[in-house]
Amino acid sequence: MTKYLFVTGGVVSGIGKGISAAAIGQLLKKHGYKVTMQKLDPYINVDPGTMSPFQHGEVFVTHDGKETDLDLGHYERFIDEYLTKDSSVTSGQIYEEVINKERKGDYLGHTVQVIPHITDMIKEKLHKIAKHTQADIVITEIGGTVGDIESLPFIEAIRQFRRDIGYHNTYYLHTTLIPYIHASGEYKTKPTQHSLKELRSLGIHADGVLLRSDAPLEDAIKDKVALLGDINKEAVFTSHDVDILYEVILNYNKQGITEHILKHFELTTKAINVSDWQSLITKMRETKQSLNIAMVGKYVGLHDAYFSIIEALEHAGYHHHTHVEITWIDAEDLNHIETQLKDVDGILIPGGFGVRATEGKIKAIRYARENNIPFLGICFGMQLAVVEYARNVLNLEGAHSTELHPKTSHPVIDIQRGRQSDEDLGGTLRLGASISLIKNNTKLFEIYQKESIEERHRHRYEVNPAYHDIFKDSEMTFSAFDQTNTLVEAIEIKNHPFFIGVQYHPEFLSRPLKPRPLFEAFLKSMMTPR
Ligand code: GLN
Repeated sequence: MTKYLFVTGGVVSGIGKGISAAAIGQLLKKHGYKVTMQKLDPYINVDPGTMSPFQHGEVFVTHDGKETDLDLGHYERFIDEYLTKDSSVTSGQIYEEVINKERKGDYLGHTVQVIPHITDMIKEKLHKIAKHTQADIVITEIGGTVGDIESLPFIEAIRQFRRDIGYHNTYYLHTTLIPYIHASGEYKTKPTQHSLKELRSLGIHADGVLLRSDAPLEDAIKDKVALLGDINKEAVFTSHDVDILYEVILNYNKQGITEHILKHFELTTKAINVSDWQSLITKMRETKQSLNIAMVGKYVGLHDAYFSIIEALEHAGYHHHTHVEITWIDAEDLNHIETQLKDVDGILIPGGFGVRATEGKIKAIRYARENNIPFLGICFGMQLAVVEYARNVLNLEGAHSTELHPKTSHPVIDIQRGRQSDEDLGGTLRLGASISLIKNNTKLFEIYQKESIEERHRHRYEVNPAYHDIFKDSEMTFSAFDQTNTLVEAIEIKNHPFFIGVQYHPEFLSRPLKPRPLFEAFLKSMMTPR
């Protein structure tokens, strides 16, 4: 029987509920259980693919090509499992499926209602992920904050679920914030008490509560929450801010959170070994070295928009014993390039869509190319590196991507063959994992040490095949192609310390203890004196 750990949130959003859930997942795995994770998001969008990163952070892409919430990135990085479309459920998706069924007449004349039809569809998703993954434990995070109108059907569905499958097969963990009031110098439990009460009014009595705070909390706070929130004292856990994200695994382990959950599930526990995480944290605490990487992008005000890239750089930093500092540069504001990029060790241009800020990015790419500064272009970043090279080295005046300038005289980047630009924007990209074949005698081959690699994708445009020949005699090499040998997967420049662009997104497969080769090599090039 699959066990379900439901993680809800209270008081405010944005307190790292997904990270907490994922850290618990990592520890449950250490006890020898097969763990998978799932996010139920209350918004009406069918998937987050069309949402602005300004509003919702990055779009994370799974191996099977689903555009999902950035929390799935945390889940994959912490539990080191590939998740699938079953792991990302939104209200929009639930309603769409229920309405489609209604149109087909599947409800046989019944009035279709939130309860039971919407809640039944939600419960179907809970069962489906267990069936497809054969996981021992499914961790399901409910997005939003308890009390929100939008999340009510999800809360109701998980309430019913305990009735359906039994007390010991379900665990409700509520995560809340304990704010610090500077004026009185106190931590306050009242919002948590109210939130637990709100949850009870919806029929759910939390089995455990996780208190988020900026610093470690004293026992008296836990006692108070236990007494006034009607929770067993041994089921009150704490989670304070940490410098290195993965330290939460150690903090939770010390408190025995997973032992408590497993006991409730009537599953066996064992003495687990977290020395892998412990040594990572110890090593990074001792590390003095730091590299400074310029991230030149459009959403630099919201770092969540590039979460997986920042993580991938940090993971490579763990490997090389170096911290990574990011200098955020708004590409629209790149007017004094020499001073703005003077102290950086490397330049990274991440993925992106749309014309805004592209000329600034192109300027930064030129600067990296001409000044031998290590450069990594990801997806859009690679496409713009091709545009820059076409314009400034191959003298193809006005070269551009047709995404940004449909009537350009030199469309070096064009819509992928077989994809129409007037399609709906939702879900029409090349998405998910596929194989890239690396050419011998390239820097990319040196980095990966193999001919065939699998990475994830999310793009609609490609290097225009009509221009491939023009690049043949230049210093820009196309170092990898897709399996049809026509779609350019990577580019590099000879006689440059590190100038690589990739059409795929290597950041999605990076793990804290298993960095991706490309990021490792990018950092290494910065550590080698030029
Ligand atoms: N906008 C570009 C495309 O659609 C790049 C996408 C991206 O960077 N993810 O191909």
